[in-house]
Amino acid sequence: MSFSEKIFNAGVVGAGGAGFPTHIKANSKVEYVLVNGAECEPLIHKDVELMKNFPSQILEGVSEMMKNTDAKKTYFGIKAKNSIAIEEIEKHNSNNRIETCLLGDFYPSGDEYELVYAATKRLIPPHGLPLDVGCVVNNVETFFNISNALKDIPVTEKIVTVTGLVKEPKTFFAPIGTSFKDLIEFAGGAIANDYAIFVSGILMGRLTFDLTEVVTKTIAGIILLPKDHYLVTRMNRPLTSMNRIGKSACDQCSYCTEFCPRYLLGYDVQPHKVMRSLQFSTTGEAVWNQYADLCCSCGLCSLYACPEDLYPREACDQGKAELRKNNQKYIQPKPVKVHPIKEGRRVPLKQLMKRMDVLKYEQKTPFTEGKPEPKIIKIFLKQHVGVPASLNVLVGDKVSKGDLVGKMDNGKLGANIHSSIDGIVTSANDNFIIIER
Ligand code: SF4
Ligand code: SF4
Repeated sequence: MSFSEKIFNAGVVGAGGAGFPTHIKANSKVEYVLVNGAECEPLIHKDVELMKNFPSQILEGVSEMMKNTDAKKTYFGIKAKNSIAIEEIEKHNSNNRIETCLLGDFYPSGDEYELVYAATKRLIPPHGLPLDVGCVVNNVETFFNISNALKDIPVTEKIVTVTGLVKEPKTFFAPIGTSFKDLIEFAGGAIANDYAIFVSGILMGRLTFDLTEVVTKTIAGIILLPKDHYLVTRMNRPLTSMNRIGKSACDQCSYCTEFCPRYLLGYDVQPHKVMRSLQFSTTGEAVWNQYADLCCSCGLCSLYACPEDLYPREACDQGKAELRKNNQKYIQPKPVKVHPIKEGRRVPLKQLMKRMDVLKYEQKTPFTEGKPEPKIIKIFLKQHVGVPASLNVLVGDKVSKGDLVGKMDNGKLGANIHSSIDGIVTSANDNFIIIER
């Protein structure tokens, strides 16, 4: 069986949040493999813990990817501050074509466009992929999953950090489909009654209050913050209010654009112009949406740059959705050229955390061997980019951990889905499967 077939069978997708099926990348031919171990979302440390505890598995996945893509070199992107992880990776690395690429503690150094530039000084063309400049990029956990796939071990678990208002903040593997309630119990329980949950991070993640939500192949963890924390209040506002506030308060200072990492890298992203789409100019929104098209939704403009505490990121998200709906793509007229002030305008993570009032929630989240043993799991048939997997079980079926419960048809973009526990299928539809132990 080929390398990419093994990865396809095991249902490996981008574990850093993107969920792109990895077997497609494994089929490409590139010059460089890039390992994304930047992990720049505040408070989440699952990648660092994985690098500290499973360096050889990650490196095995990297070496195999190099071999199969004919890459001449790998740059292993990792923040210089994570000295123990660097030490472990370097200690276990016997491949002299894998080189550590030290990154500063800035946000968002893990953005694919940023990482490709940091490692190779190449700029991905607008709307392009790393492949366009001879690179393939994967998160460290994806490489860990590739090494499992080579041993025919499918993706049934996800490494997550559970932190914030919990008794024992920690990082651990959880069966896919485990509820947030079970995750919190495994972390010793919540230490406050009124809390909100940020899923996968504060900047690029989302807010929920629903404890029945479950672990998927792409979540990085959960962060519990007080319900009355300023971030919760601002994120919980309905979109109509965000837009109304923006319409009345934006003074077009353009700080959002001046700090935008994509703008500084040379892409024509200008959130202050996108803010004009909120109907405070007489021109229609279509004129302004184009400046959102290359935005990566990093959230820096909303949560750091804007002195009025407005929502330029959310305006960009709406602009991008509108462009997609109308099947429009912005063709950047000028060539991509790094802004001369880029390095001087980088945002240190600590400063960003201070601005968001979360410094006091920064705490150690050590890797723990044990894992939750949920009595019931809910597995979605679409946890990836592409189409959902087809149901491969019936209600009443007995399944074992690792059994194929969602099958991806050959030739379609997507990934296989496997059971993460032994049990009986008690509910199954085109959207999800419930399995009880
Ligand atoms: S930083 Fe805030 S106030 Fe200034 S242009 Fe951007 S959205 Fe408007
Ligand atoms: S979210 Fe804001 S800062 Fe980030 S890329 Fe988009 S426009 Fe730029």
